[in-house]
Amino acid sequence: MNCLLCGSIFQSPPTWRKLLLYEIEATSCKRCLSKFEKADTQFDLSDFEDSHYKGALNSVTALYSYNEAMKSYLHQYKFLQDVALASVFAEEIRLLIEKREGIVVPIPMHPDKLLTRTFAQVDELLISAGLPFQHLLVKTETAEQGKKSKKERLEASPLFEVTGKVEAKTYVLFDDIYTTGTTMHHAAKVLKEAGASKIEAITLIKG
Ligand SMILES: [Zn+2]
Repeated sequence: MNCLLCGSIFQSPPTWRKLLLYEIEATSCKRCLSKFEKADTQFDLSDFEDSHYKGALNSVTALYSYNEAMKSYLHQYKFLQDVALASVFAEEIRLLIEKREGIVVPIPMHPDKLLTRTFAQVDELLISAGLPFQHLLVKTETAEQGKKSKKERLEASPLFEVTGKVEAKTYVLFDDIYTTGTTMHHAAKVLKEAGASKIEAITLIKG
């Protein structure tokens, strides 16, 4: 097949895993995939120790670092709206999330943004990975977060509201990119306040 990233023809050889177990077929070539840089798995959350988000998130794990290859991938996926690209990391996402015991909750986009972006990019990554998920959050505002200081951002009113029933269980928040961590912490806090017992976060990219 043709690589979704560079267009060159590549072969994905049959493996025992593909025959015996479930494995998602690669949609990009080895050369393209080698340009992405695997991230250190778990994040240090000590930045949030003295904020009122302390303890909201139990862990954050990212799959990849933000490098040039990832920058152009994100541009093509998010801004040029190439939905097929959701499949590039499908197998990696599946392997990481399947190990977790928890209900997967994608970080939602604001409805206004969904109109301009045409598809829900975070949801599509999970759909490609064949993972079930629940929409339990709705984004309430699109405040210009960048202009505020980190402290102001952390203490701003919640960006999300809980829309479904939250139980005393583990939830796995999923987002495409983790930059300042504000989004994830806001989401984790509202879910914990609604009754969740543990919140783990997983992102494709560490910004
Ligand atoms: Zn390629």
